[in-house]
Parts: sequence; C-alpha cells; structure tokens
Amino acid sequence: MKLACHEMETSCLIIGGGPAGYGAARAVAREGCPAILVERHGFLGGMGTAAGLSCYLNHRANQVDLSASVYREFVQMQEKLNGHYYDALAQADFFDPEIVKHTMESALLNSPVTLLYHLLLSSVTQGKDGWVASFVGKGAITRIRARFIIDATGDGDACALAGAEMTHGRRMDGKTQPMSMVVQLGGFRPAVWKAAGHRLVGGRYATEGDSLSAEIARARASGKWTVPRENIAMFWSLPTDPTRVVINGTRITGLNSCNPVETSQAEIEGRRQAREILSLFQSSVPGFEKSFLLQTGPQIGVRESRRITGRATLTESAVRARVIPESSVMLCAYPIDVHDPDGHGTQFESTRDGHVYGIPWECQLPVALENIAAAGRCISATHEAAGSFRVMPTCMGLGEAAGTAAALAYRKGKRLHDITGSEIRSRMDAARAAIGAPKLERLFPFEKRSEAVSAALFSVS
Ligand SMILES: Cc1cc2nc3c(=O)[nH]c(=O)nc-3n(C[C@H](O)[C@H](O)[C@H](O)COP(=O)(O)OP(=O)(O)OC[C@H]3O[C@@H](n4cnc5c(N)ncnc54)[C@H](O)[C@@H]3O)c2cc1C
Repeated sequence: MKLACHEMETSCLIIGGGPAGYGAARAVAREGCPAILVERHGFLGGMGTAAGLSCYLNHRANQVDLSASVYREFVQMQEKLNGHYYDALAQADFFDPEIVKHTMESALLNSPVTLLYHLLLSSVTQGKDGWVASFVGKGAITRIRARFIIDATGDGDACALAGAEMTHGRRMDGKTQPMSMVVQLGGFRPAVWKAAGHRLVGGRYATEGDSLSAEIARARASGKWTVPRENIAMFWSLPTDPTRVVINGTRITGLNSCNPVETSQAEIEGRRQAREILSLFQSSVPGFEKSFLLQTGPQIGVRESRRITGRATLTESAVRARVIPESSVMLCAYPIDVHDPDGHGTQFESTRDGHVYGIPWECQLPVALENIAAAGRCISATHEAAGSFRVMPTCMGLGEAAGTAAALAYRKGKRLHDITGSEIRSRMDAARAAIGAPKLERLFPFEKRSEAVSAALFSVS
C-alpha cells in the first residue's frame, strides 16, 4: 500500500496546538491572516490537556495582570462554563481540561484558521516561495506550503528540522528538568479535608503547593515511596467537580523527551509512580481515604527539551535584573522554578514583590533562518531563564506575539524579522485595550538600553 499525499497551502502554518499554538492561532485569526494549525493529538491544549495540567501559573505582579488578550479571553470562556477558579495564594487559575479542549477548538472554528489533527511533523524544507512542511498521519502524508511557520511544538521540532541551531537542556551537560506524569484522583472528600484544618478556596476547592514532606519521608522510610522527590509540587481540585483532584508529584529523571525509546520508558515509569501517589494520598492525606485513580496522562508532562538559538537569548541575568527591553513582546512575573535534572530538589525563588521582566521578540527568531519563529517553551533561553517563562499564560502570550507578527508581515509583504517588537506589542496592547485592560506601555518602562548592556544580558547573536 502506498500512502496518499494531500497537498495544502496557506500563509501561516502553526505547528503544535498547546498554549503557544493556540495563542498564535487566535492572533492570526483576529488579524485576518489565513492559517493552518497542525496538532499531533486529536485536541488542543498541549500540556494543559494532554498532560492533564489544569493549573495556569502566575501572570500577576503587584496585582497587575500581565497576561495578553488571548489569555484573558480564554479565562472568560472558562468562566462562562463554570470551568474556572482563581487562588490568590497559589497565584494560579485552575481549569477543567475538557472545557479547555472545547473552548479552544470552538474559538478557532469559523475563523481563518483550519485545524488539522493527528499529524506528526516529519520534515521542513525551503520551497520556491516559502516553507514546505510534511506530516505523517494515518493513511496519508500531508504536505503544506506556507510563507511563515510558527513552531509551537514545545520541542522546537519545526526549527530543528528546518536546520536551525538548537540547544538542549542546560548548557554544561544538556540535562533537562525532569518529566512528570500528572495523576488525577477521584473520590476526594473536601469536607473531611476541611475538618482536618485545611483550606478550601471559595469553600469548595483544595489547592496545595510544596506539601506532604513529612508524609513522604515516612513513606520512604517504610519502603513505600521510591519517587525521587521530597514533596508534592502541587495538587488542586477541578473547578467542575471538587472531588476530582489533579496531582503534580511524580518525577522521572535522566530521560530525553525527544527520543521515543526514552519517552516510552518515562511513560511506563510515570504510571508506576502514579500508584505510589495513590497509595500515599489514601494512607496519609485527610479526605483521600477512599480515593481512586481516575487518569494518568494521556501523555507524560515534558518541562524542558530543545530550544532555538535565537537572535537574542533570554538569560538568568536578564530575568534577575528585571530588564524590560524596548523590543519586549511579553512580560513575565513567574519566578525561576527549576526542578533539578538529577532529582535533587527544586530551585524556587519566590517573588511576591512585583518582579517583572520582558521577553524580547528576537528570542523567538532563530539565527540564520527567515520567516520561521518559535513560540512557547522552545524560544531562545538558558535553562534557568526557561525555568521562569515556561508557564502557560506566558507561553500563550508568546504565541500571540508570533501570530501577530506573522499577520503583520503578511499584510505588509515583509519578512518576520522585519517586524519589530514594539510594532507587535502595540497591536497586542490594542487587543488588550479592546477588552478593557490597561495598556502595558502605560504601566511599565520599556527601556532603550545601550547595545552593550543588552548584548551582555541577552547574549545577542
Ligand atoms: C509536569 C509539569 C508541570 C507543569 N506545571 C505547570 C503549572 O502548574 N502551571 C503552568 O502554567 N505551567 C506548568 N508547566 C509548564 C507548561 O505546561 C509548559 O511549559 C507549556 O505547556 C508550554 O507550552 P507550549 O505551547 O510551548 O508547549 P506544549 O504545551 O508542550 O504544546 C506543544 C504542542 O505541540 C504538539 N506537538 C509537539 N510536537 C509536534 C509535532 N512534531 N507535530 C505536531 N504536533 C506536535 C504537542 O502535541 C502539543 O499539543 C508544567 C509542565 C510540566 C511538564
């Protein structure tokens, strides 16, 4: 049997339908640029749905909401379906993955964006008038010609296949933050949890971070805990049903998520660790005595893998120095949060004092390639800086920036890197203003730094 070949053409090809891909797709749709979004799973949401992570972390600094308009609109969509609550202590929005899938997809239907599911990217080549990307799916190869590509695969697959210079994990040894299998338990009893003296958000939802160290130490001593971590990173009730609780507490070290053999091992180890999570919660956490395993995955959670080498690179120094360069397209307030690649704890630098830094557009543009941009987790950054900007509201905003840039380039007949960060920000600020949010330019000083200072902080290529 020979595989059929489907040929398609568009202006902007978005590869990956996670927070970044969705942000890009909503932005190109808003700006009226024809686009195709390709996703290897049968639904949108990326780690937020495929890995079951329904906690979208901090995008506020001193009460100022830094999120871009697509994320704000996304929160409103969940609220309308009673699929959202906010916890000020955790500084996080909590959603229901099924509602996320539904709202993301609905927002893109009847727009200039065509959705294609179940296709895995296999090659990217330079064609006569732009890029040609090939995808493998059941029964067919799909070949798509596009002027612009937005790589929102998390792993930088499109940029890597196009020949971009890439990095993987941390500079000294290429090791990455560990993967984690996210676990969902049913049968939690919030009333029992509350009676034991614990907090319920809005009188309904349990949320806890960095917890259960003593219980884990006891379980480890009795041989019932072999997971290489000393606490549970986070657990939270689902907004649609507080008796269902999502737990981010497994840890799989030393495996490469861009290698299918190692990813298979990670999935299997993640499900083994899920049984230990269930047993720990049943035996040690009030309200979970009668809980049961509802779901793992559907896929292992990947925190870190490949990133592009961009025209600028976001560094740890730039994050710490709280620099907001003139070409910033997104602001981020989340601290550096790096789970040790070898499983020895987590570097978490709590910042509740209005820590804000900017992410320049040049971090999304691979050196030496034209008309292809990265969005989300695979932009150009060091391991430590990536530990900060990787949260989903920021990744969605980076997607929105790339989609806005592609639409501007399409309209003006320009190349992607001819569009400036301030042009993109001004369009994104207009979209924020249209939904009643203050313009970021009015709230934060976007600096014009000397080239030397910028080069030192952003390792400009
Ligand atoms: C265990 C864990 C806990 C986390 N906790 C939080 C948290 O509490 N709050 C928070 O905000 N963030 C959290 N994060 C970080 C956050 O989930 C990610 O950084 C974020 O989802 C990255 O968004 P993205 O769109 O860049 O990539 P992804 O979410 O990874 O989406 C990439 C998409 O591209 C698709 N894709 C990949 N390769 C291909 C291909 N070759 N062809 C076609 N499609 C492809 C994937 O299927 C996926 O849908 C966590 C991450 C992990 C792993």
